[in-house]
Amino acid sequence: MPSKKIHKILVANRGEIAVRIIGTLKKLSINSVAIYADNDADSLHCRIADEARPLGCGSLKDTYLNIQKIIDLALDAGADAIHPGYGFLSENADFAEACKANNLIFIGPDADSMRLMGDKIRARQFAIENDIPVVWGLVGSLEDIEAQAAALPYPVLIKASAGGGGKGMHIVDDASQLHLSLEQAAREAERYFGNGQIFVEQYIRNPRHIEVQILADHHGNVIHLYERECSVQRRYQKVIEESPSPTLTEEKRKAICETAVNLCKKMNYNNAGTVEFIVDENQNFYFLEMNTRIQVEHPVTEQRTGIDIVEEQIRIARGKVMGYTQDSVMANGHAIECRIYAEDPENNFMPAPGDITLYHEPKMRGVRIDSSIDRPTTISDSYDPMISKLICHGKDRESAIEITRNALKDYIVQTKKTNIPYLQSIIDNDDFIENKIDTSYCEKHQDELIDSMVKMRDEIKKEDVVALFLFYDFNKKYLENKTIDNIWEDIGYWRYNMNIDVEIGRDAACHVRTDAANVVFHVQIDRIRRKSLSCTINGQTYEVMLSQNGGDINKVIINGMTESIFVSETNDNNYCVHLKGLDFICRRNDELNDTKDYSHTENKNSDLEYHSPMPGKVIKVNVKEGDEVKVDDVLCVVEAMKMENNIKAMTSGKVAKVFVKENDKVDVKTILIELAL
Ligand code: ADP
Ligand code: ADP
Ligand code: MG
Repeated sequence: MPSKKIHKILVANRGEIAVRIIGTLKKLSINSVAIYADNDADSLHCRIADEARPLGCGSLKDTYLNIQKIIDLALDAGADAIHPGYGFLSENADFAEACKANNLIFIGPDADSMRLMGDKIRARQFAIENDIPVVWGLVGSLEDIEAQAAALPYPVLIKASAGGGGKGMHIVDDASQLHLSLEQAAREAERYFGNGQIFVEQYIRNPRHIEVQILADHHGNVIHLYERECSVQRRYQKVIEESPSPTLTEEKRKAICETAVNLCKKMNYNNAGTVEFIVDENQNFYFLEMNTRIQVEHPVTEQRTGIDIVEEQIRIARGKVMGYTQDSVMANGHAIECRIYAEDPENNFMPAPGDITLYHEPKMRGVRIDSSIDRPTTISDSYDPMISKLICHGKDRESAIEITRNALKDYIVQTKKTNIPYLQSIIDNDDFIENKIDTSYCEKHQDELIDSMVKMRDEIKKEDVVALFLFYDFNKKYLENKTIDNIWEDIGYWRYNMNIDVEIGRDAACHVRTDAANVVFHVQIDRIRRKSLSCTINGQTYEVMLSQNGGDINKVIINGMTESIFVSETNDNNYCVHLKGLDFICRRNDELNDTKDYSHTENKNSDLEYHSPMPGKVIKVNVKEGDEVKVDDVLCVVEAMKMENNIKAMTSGKVAKVFVKENDKVDVKTILIELAL
């Protein structure tokens, strides 16, 4: 096959993966074309690309999933090729074919491999035919499966043949639940994946998820870049991935990698791909599925091998022999990736899109960050809420964990919620450190991990937060190099008010829900100068002094300890204050500030009024006016971002009013239900 030249590539994706691909294009002097939906117009991927082309507005179908529009944009831009990234059209065989039909190189495997592996039932069948181990399974119509109800090896897992992203799977513990679960799974499969075909697999208890990165070219060369272990998952979706697997013996490592290579050879696979396995407690491994695209967690492999997988993908797509042989692949040290999400770990990991008011990445050796953003921005509710990935590489697992711990502490993303404190508590958790993990690790450790978040928060002295906040508040114009218009602004209105109440919100951005109400600190200001503050809180003196001013980072010394100032104003006029790895919501309660709107903060009514967590659709209403409810009763269910969110009662009481009915579209401002005590 003659190798083709590629001068320009359209990246048919958004977010961190588009940014990451464009990075390689720059390295290779290939021109990049970004595409964007209206709400993404000033996203990082558009800003760094050589050119950016609009998809207009509308749903995903009208934008990032619109094959014709994307092909037209590529042709119009004079691109030679399209890189699909992951998600969106990356596993869409029709898209790969449409590229080919328009003389555009699709950077990925051919449509046949995608069709074969994109259908879990066909992929399973292909694996069986080629003597690749799979778990016990049953394929057939709903009636066929039900006819076997008594004979199934419970627990079983119902899966959608076209499924992905951990969505739409149901565990069934015994025959009595089978009927309902089958119907629900088929319904969800139809709704989410446009294909109601489902099948049943034996559910392996306490398994690990281990996968093998493959590269294959058009010249019959197939190599692996070793394995990744992704057992830390929430809702069947990976949160932390590492390489090598800390679990496999050398012998099993060799076997699993060879099995993956064999599978790819058997189907004449080409380009990058990942063969996923489930591994039981005795290290028996079973083929799960193959992802025929670049994966979210590919960077851990890149950091260990030094191979740029996107570069190899392009090389392979051009028809060249890939740049490595199996023997030339060296893997060094240990790499760990954490997925950073705008989500609420305490509330079923519900996405928490919204404004980011401060963004600061850790800078240290061994750290790579693949981010969708580089400055404060809004995380849209229209897409996956992943903000970035933190990848840490060290000489061994222990050192990779240590680097991750430090990097998470220095990674500041001030917004409503992120999972950073949750990741910190995993990294500090003994079972994680000792690799006592399986895919239900997050579920089993939920309480422990939340407790450790609460403990982290409790250990930080709130008076330090208050002192740091006040120092910032008095000096912010100076710190931000803003012009100071008048003397009152400079020295501050505090003069009239030597005593200030500062309130730290109970639902601070440190994400830990405690039962305590907001805590108010009475602060007596003893002395204030432009670069220093002395105050007394609870009988103790706090001296804050500016120690370093400039660039991105301002530092202060609080009672002898140096801390960086990371404070931002939230869009409801409170402040988010970072200290020692956590964020706290603060506000001044003194009279002169009472023009500010604190209405968002928790008030007594918040347990009585229920809003939708995100824009979505009501799919179920369980209560009617006058019903008595208890704490944790599910009042209604809102579907948003392909997830069913249970709206639960936070107090017991009576249903005063129901504002919505099934199928209503709702957004965050819509009141769903009101309770009365
Ligand atoms: P893996 O790559 O390891 O299989 P996932 O299955 O979690 O990991 O990744 C694919 C999922 O990522 C998709 O199913 C989708 O939910 C999500 N996704 C798709 N496109 C994007 C994007 N541009 N940015 C972030 N997430 C995306
Ligand atoms: P997806 O396409 O959504 O990524 P997978 O088949 O790769 O679906 O499965 C995702 C996750 O679900 C796995 O990583 C594992 O945690 C769990 N899982 C899948 N199949 C089984 C099984 N047979 N037994 C136990 N857990 C499973
Ligand atoms: Mg998978």
